[in-house]
Amino acid sequence: MLHFSCDRCGKGLLLDEDVRYEVTIEVKSGYDPLEITREDLQKDFSAEIAVLLKQMKKKGKQALEDGVYKIFKFDLCLQCQKEFIKNPLPVKSKQELPERSGFRNGQ
Ligand SMILES: [Zn+2]
Repeated sequence: MLHFSCDRCGKGLLLDEDVRYEVTIEVKSGYDPLEITREDLQKDFSAEIAVLLKQMKKKGKQALEDGVYKIFKFDLCLQCQKEFIKNPLPVKSKQELPERSGFRNGQ
């Protein structure tokens, strides 16, 4: 038998709750199309590629994957779903943010 519990508060979901909510959070690197010029196509990128490969070897496989794509899946109870949709990305206080963070939130 499957057992679900709320990943936020730990409450049992199938017996204690009438409804269960699934949350999927996908974090992936943004893609901005490159502008490739004729000069770019004529460059020799061997040295640059060698440097990139060296940097990649220093990082672990998981760190490389996490830098590009990560998915999270959670189950929530009704109360936690209500709280989550009100504020899915809780922000740090202004004191915790770096000066040029882009934090706006009406401030
Ligand atoms: Zn909950």
